[in-house]
Amino acid sequence: MPVDERDIINAEGDFVYRDAFILSSRSSRAPSWKMYAFTGLDVSFSIGEGILDFCYTDFTKEQDSILLLGALFSSAKKREAIVRNQDEALEAESSNMERTLSSLDRYLYQSVYSSIFPPYIENFTRDSIPMYIHYIAEIQKEKLRRIEFVFDEEFYPDELSKFLPCERYSLYSEVYGTPTDFIREERFTMNGNLDPRYLKRGNIDTSEIAQRLTSYEPTNKKSPLEKALGLEADRVKLFYHAPRFMAVEYRVSTIHDMLELEFTKMLELGTRLHKCKICGRYFIVKGNYVSDYCNRIREGQTRTCQQIGAQRKYDERLKTDEAVALFRKYYKRYYARTKVNQIKPDKFRKWNYKACEMRDRCQSGKITPTEFEEWLYGSFRNRRKE
Ligand SMILES: [Zn+2]
Repeated sequence: MPVDERDIINAEGDFVYRDAFILSSRSSRAPSWKMYAFTGLDVSFSIGEGILDFCYTDFTKEQDSILLLGALFSSAKKREAIVRNQDEALEAESSNMERTLSSLDRYLYQSVYSSIFPPYIENFTRDSIPMYIHYIAEIQKEKLRRIEFVFDEEFYPDELSKFLPCERYSLYSEVYGTPTDFIREERFTMNGNLDPRYLKRGNIDTSEIAQRLTSYEPTNKKSPLEKALGLEADRVKLFYHAPRFMAVEYRVSTIHDMLELEFTKMLELGTRLHKCKICGRYFIVKGNYVSDYCNRIREGQTRTCQQIGAQRKYDERLKTDEAVALFRKYYKRYYARTKVNQIKPDKFRKWNYKACEMRDRCQSGKITPTEFEEWLYGSFRNRRKE
């Protein structure tokens, strides 16, 4: 039994919880002590965010350190655990899990899904950790390739833009031999309670819920419906004052299954991705406006791509404006001189042609405005530069 089966994944697919996954691990079988960073925690994010987080994690960073630790573990003498009853089985399992977690530690906590779904290594051999690294690398590679094929609007647009993402995936699975079927076991419940994470996504406004909750006044008088159905007084009213919400849950136990679940949800909900013009990574398109940049902060940066992009656009405009202003200034000056025959018209025409070229070079940043101005100034004899 893989320990990570204890994680319950609720994926909200219906209109109430349209855009979020809630991950939690609060099964009754889960140990009360904190097994790993995500034990007992709720994490919520938009559908698609988990896959992208996994795909863009640089797992190679912590690779060497866990290979070293793994080598140490595998050479340690193994003690055979004798298991006589369920308690001892659980104990043996916990200790295996603890060893797995302590040897993979930093490697796992690099991405959300690798943290939530750690592997369970029963027998440490020389191959255990290299195999796990290989497993992660392979699914990462496959998911990146798949995302590009299915969601990238610039990927062979002439041929693929007429397809829906699900159709593109159908083609992809034929080409790469990935399964077209994926079993999702869904649990639909109306017992979504007043937990704040449900409240946020409920189709009832939070302030209205508060109003409903606080306005409840008990009564002994039965309503017509309560009378008709033979219910006790207040039964129907209570449903109104303590609203319930629907929830959809999935049970997932491996990174692979989690990624597949999320991917199929993306197809189902029509999630759209767009490639950031700065970091080149995909991000989820929200609403109708498609931005050129994502709002992640790249490594080594302090600002988001969006902030960097806005600054860049602003700088470009300034540069463009400056180049145009300089060009106009000198154009006027030299044109005036053609009128008084200080500059011959054909010389001016040639100059104008070259000046336009230089202006374009300045706008595209190949030369600085100062260099451009020096060129303009030096084109004809001038008085002292003002
Ligand atoms: Zn970006």
